[in-house]
Amino acid sequence: MTAKSAAAAAGATVYGHPRQGPGRELKKAVEGYWKGRIDADALHNTAARLRAATWRSLAEAGIDEVPTGDFSYYDHVLDTTVMVGAIPARHRAAVRADTLDGYFAMARGTQDVAPLEMTKWFDTNYHYLVPELGPDTVFAANPVKQLAELGEARALGLAARPVLVGPVTYLLLSKPAPGVPADFDPLTLLDRLLPVYAEVLADLRAAGAAWVQLDEPALVQDRTPAELDAAARAYRDLGGLGDRPRLLVASYFDRLGDALPVLAKAPVEGLALDFTGAAAANLDAVAAVGGLPGKRLVAGVVDGRNVWVNDLAQSLGTLGTLLGLADRVDVAASCSLLHVPLDAAAERDIDPQILRWLSFARQKTAEIVTLAKGLSRGTDAITAELAANRAALAGRAASPITRDPAVRARAAAVTAADTRRSQPYRERAAAQRALLGLPLLPTTTIGSFPQTGELRTARADLRAGRIDAADYEERIRAEIQEVISFQEKAGLDVLVHGEPERNDMVQYFAEQLTGYLATQHGWVQSYGTRYVRPPILAGDISRPEPMTVRWTTYAQSLTSRPVKGMLTGPVTMLAWSFVRDDQPLADTARQVALALRDEVTDLEAAGTSVIQVDEPALRETLPLRAADRPAYLAWATEAFRLSTAGVRPDTQIHTHMCYAEFSDIVRAIDDLDADVISLEAARSHMQVARELAAHGYPREAGPGVYDIHSPRVPSAEEAAALLRTGLEAIPAERLWVNPDCGLKTRGWPETRASLENLVTAARTVRAQLAQL
Ligand code: GLN
Ligand code: ZN
Repeated sequence: MTAKSAAAAAGATVYGHPRQGPGRELKKAVEGYWKGRIDADALHNTAARLRAATWRSLAEAGIDEVPTGDFSYYDHVLDTTVMVGAIPARHRAAVRADTLDGYFAMARGTQDVAPLEMTKWFDTNYHYLVPELGPDTVFAANPVKQLAELGEARALGLAARPVLVGPVTYLLLSKPAPGVPADFDPLTLLDRLLPVYAEVLADLRAAGAAWVQLDEPALVQDRTPAELDAAARAYRDLGGLGDRPRLLVASYFDRLGDALPVLAKAPVEGLALDFTGAAAANLDAVAAVGGLPGKRLVAGVVDGRNVWVNDLAQSLGTLGTLLGLADRVDVAASCSLLHVPLDAAAERDIDPQILRWLSFARQKTAEIVTLAKGLSRGTDAITAELAANRAALAGRAASPITRDPAVRARAAAVTAADTRRSQPYRERAAAQRALLGLPLLPTTTIGSFPQTGELRTARADLRAGRIDAADYEERIRAEIQEVISFQEKAGLDVLVHGEPERNDMVQYFAEQLTGYLATQHGWVQSYGTRYVRPPILAGDISRPEPMTVRWTTYAQSLTSRPVKGMLTGPVTMLAWSFVRDDQPLADTARQVALALRDEVTDLEAAGTSVIQVDEPALRETLPLRAADRPAYLAWATEAFRLSTAGVRPDTQIHTHMCYAEFSDIVRAIDDLDADVISLEAARSHMQVARELAAHGYPREAGPGVYDIHSPRVPSAEEAAALLRTGLEAIPAERLWVNPDCGLKTRGWPETRASLENLVTAARTVRAQLAQL
């Protein structure tokens, strides 16, 4: 870009910001309110102070239009449910009695009333509360929160742009309310919902909003013609309103595809588009529709999903191309900054050299402002920033951390044979049966046992130096001993060591792999007040030494029954981390897979005959667009096989996934070539067993018979009934008996009782089978 082509004045904006504050103030205040330590006023005051601080810092950084309404006590989709008055019948009394307590009741449930269901926000690790709608849903505008936040920002003298979940996305993210048929089409509610949005928009206009942003990320997914028609209708109606602010329809997380021409034609004043990753296809698509004449284009060129510094020169190139295609081009992140940590400058333990490659919300804000400045005033205005950026990128590219020749050579030498077991499944299964000598319907668990307060204290004590590594080891061993002795007494067949040494199933491995970075303050909201600190895949990955072998072999030394080795699979290691943006995901996955393969080899050599490699994230990182899925599934399954295929035929490989809806990836699950899979099934009454059978899944499977998401103890009869249901789909020779997922969030008393009942159930059904 040259200074000459920089004619338009480009703005800098963001769609949303991390909510909790630099010292985790919001989390503390909300949890304090729940525990009765602070009252509603104190909570509201803390929240208002945090919002003001966020807006001021954005404005001081050079953001022209600050977002409002993106803040939330729990979740912005739940806030939208409140805004449109779609309170589920079971929560209405609580909401009427007290708005705030009713709000938290919808989010978390109460003793008597179930919360809204929670699920992942597109392909992120943020969870939203699912709206429950049906033919009887009555909407009513409640713009109180939006108006209050707009008022607060304007009182600070700032130009503010309210951000709302758009009506089409809101409906498409909903599920049928209890009692409503599963095939209910939520888009039939659009005509009822649009007047409510119209009212909110008019109120926001009256309160001084020049622009309002309507987020429609659902339009980056594959959509039917009817859904696209609904989007067209929605924005024709809202655009046609007389009394309204200017409308910016925002999309993110992927390309708009067929929805782009629809929105381009709509009578709205602005579109926000993602131009990162696969969404870069938006660039050609905008040109193909003849540009966006007369519209404001907000260009998401700074990756809002990742933690790496932007390539400013490259972004300026994209922005320069866009300048010719719209009336005005503003610069933004690809999505809300909610999905990245707040401030890289807060990290004290990261090598300063590496810190220069990292960009969290504050750094991304600065990048957006720099790009807007470069776009409107020419590159001469940002010479220093460009030079520093070039240096950071060059440093990263040349660093021995990002390029370990040994790792690269090994990854390059991988052949198809490395990803194939030496014998086909059926032959292996016979060898494993002979080696393990398990009964029919073998019982096992998914890996973790209750993470007790003592274990967490021991870890905190170790970190604080109150105990040393040897003391800590001792405590972990004592716990393993207890877990093994309980399982033997309970009569389980394949035992686990209980994972007491693991804080988290990804972090534990990340901490031991070279090339991974940990942060001190890199918190990202997962849901409500739960925040996680995803590790960062920063460089080439290798495993300097065994990570789990000593725990597994210790556990095995205590019992003659087989103890399962327990690892987190390569896809999940990527999914719950920040990934590299300087090489294909497939390459990173392959490096992680090779490191795990080393661990698998060491476990086997140490005498472990059953090894489980968990992949709970396989389904959730499925690309949003169907066209991108085959390529993803190809590298994902290859990585899993690369980590597991090196074992002997009689070593049994297990995998575990915890979700119920996976019919769309059954083939990929088969492609993993694992010997046994355990899955969540208790709540859906073994639905997955039927789906596996319908797809002709030929391997052993353990659909869960114990719902571990609740402290409730299933009776032996109940578990036996589920088992019999499972047997209708999967023959006894291939059916395992296990809980839905790990037990780390459960207490010991209910775990003990539930597992004893599970073993009783298996024995009862075995005895019945023997009489047939
Ligand atoms: N092995 C892990 C555990 O038992 C699996 C957790 C998971 O599936 N998320 O905790
Ligand atoms: Zn699970």
